[in-house]
Amino acid sequence: MRRWLFADQLGEHFLDDGEQPVLLIESKAVFRRRVFHRQKAHLVLSALRHRAAELGARALFRQVETYRDGLPDEPLEVCHPTSRPAARLVRALSTVHVLPPRGFCTDPRAFTEWADGRKALRLEDFYRHARRAHGVLMDGPEPAGGRWNYDHDNREPPPRAGLDAPAPPAIVEDEIDAEVRADLDRWEREGIRFVGADGPRLFPATAAEASARLRHFLVERLPLFGPYEDAMLARDPWMAHSMLSPAFNLGLLDPMDAVRAAEAAYRRGAAPLSSVEGFVRQLLGWRDYVWHLYWRFGPDYPRANALRATGRLPGWFADLRADDLRAACLRDVLAGVRDRGWVHHIPRLMVLGNYGLQRGWHPGALADWFHRCFVDGYAWVMVTNVVGMSQYADGGAMTTKPYAAGGAYIDRMSDYCGGCVYHPKHRTGDDACPYTAGYWAFLARNAQRLADNHRMRRPLSGLERLSDVDEVIARERTRRVP
Ligand SMILES: Cc1cc2nc3c(=O)[nH]c(=O)nc-3n(C[C@H](O)[C@H](O)[C@H](O)COP(=O)(O)OP(=O)(O)OC[C@H]3O[C@@H](n4cnc5c(N)ncnc54)[C@H](O)[C@@H]3O)c2cc1C
Ligand code: SF4
Repeated sequence: MRRWLFADQLGEHFLDDGEQPVLLIESKAVFRRRVFHRQKAHLVLSALRHRAAELGARALFRQVETYRDGLPDEPLEVCHPTSRPAARLVRALSTVHVLPPRGFCTDPRAFTEWADGRKALRLEDFYRHARRAHGVLMDGPEPAGGRWNYDHDNREPPPRAGLDAPAPPAIVEDEIDAEVRADLDRWEREGIRFVGADGPRLFPATAAEASARLRHFLVERLPLFGPYEDAMLARDPWMAHSMLSPAFNLGLLDPMDAVRAAEAAYRRGAAPLSSVEGFVRQLLGWRDYVWHLYWRFGPDYPRANALRATGRLPGWFADLRADDLRAACLRDVLAGVRDRGWVHHIPRLMVLGNYGLQRGWHPGALADWFHRCFVDGYAWVMVTNVVGMSQYADGGAMTTKPYAAGGAYIDRMSDYCGGCVYHPKHRTGDDACPYTAGYWAFLARNAQRLADNHRMRRPLSGLERLSDVDEVIARERTRRVP
């Protein structure tokens, strides 16, 4: 039977054999409905069209307005899609047989068995379970090296001299990219809107490009990944991160292959355990965990709003107008989103997400912004990472406390503050750091809601000791552009 591959199911692991006929649909309506980052639109279309070209006569490739317009009059099968709307669509089609999902390390039934009956669904417990179940980094029944967790070793501040991890092989654009760029230019002239800057394609659009990036990462960058996982450097947005999330999320790479390859690097002595464990934790742990939680937490989860945050995203943020800002960290990170559609995990969580949390922006609106503006953004990964982890809108279903932090955290983990007009330690005055003042204003606004959380006791008693909290709150209320 012909297999319908969605645009995030592009690797060989979404097919059963090398003969199977394929359906690929490029829907233009998707880009009319939402304002995506220009580079994200480019990447998705480029990957889809490259796959169609690779499959040649095996693929029926339809470039149409809606998915329904592209369906042939024949029975189809499809691997379970990654979003609720797409899952609803395929289930409503009588000619389409829906197979279990692929593209993740653990299957839904195994997750349900693990999750049922648990009071809390914590990443650490799931991660250990997945390591045991798949025999990853295990020496018999024990974790390799005797420890499950190397987080403590993986929180180094950035090295003063810079990291200088070898850059991955450059992506070379081809005629398919040129055609995508010309089409997007034309669509813009027709009135379809995008956000962010156009630029050379920075992320893999084919399985071959993705494998080359993974191989390079395992040899050249993985050893540096662990210790500096959480650090930020103004002139080095990539640090030693793998830059592979778009490739995993487009389905170009099987994450389990990458987990096994990382373990092999450790076993042959090519990378230290702390780095390999850190990478495996992200991929086998976090990535699968947020995927399963997207389904487990149900259709209302994207609307969760435990902290009653209703603020609108300001125009400078929504439109990525980084040059309007004076806060060095936020300006650089927002410029990274504008220019690349990607920044690494800590800028997402502790610069962008932290700012929204402190200001009480609506979590659903922020999740939508992340989804549209990031090259690796998809519904399943965004809702849990933004609504749950970054905005604490689920009241602690995912994390034990909100990821709110003042300027001291950013100062310790980056080189931003030295060149900033604000002072990370100041909460009042003209050079009051928006993060430090925003942190206290956040605590004051949510003190009652967080009072029962034992991990918030210390920060909340710190708040009680502040003599100038009213002044801080009043000033932050009037801050418009940080
Ligand atoms: C607010 C917020 C929004 C995020 N949005 C996305 C998103 O839209 N798409 C996305 O793939 N990741 C998202 N993440 C997770 C993470 O930031 C990115 O996966 C990572 O920065 C991608 O860069 P990398 O490939 O170099 O990752 P590495 O640091 O090299 O990590 C290796 C891989 O682990 C996986 N991974 C790590 N953490 C997570 C996580 N929390 N959730 C899912 N996968 C994870 C990714 O596939 C990544 O490629 C978000 C995190 C936060 C806090
Ligand atoms: S002082 Fe505050 S605003 Fe400036 S870079 Fe540091 S944390 Fe960011």
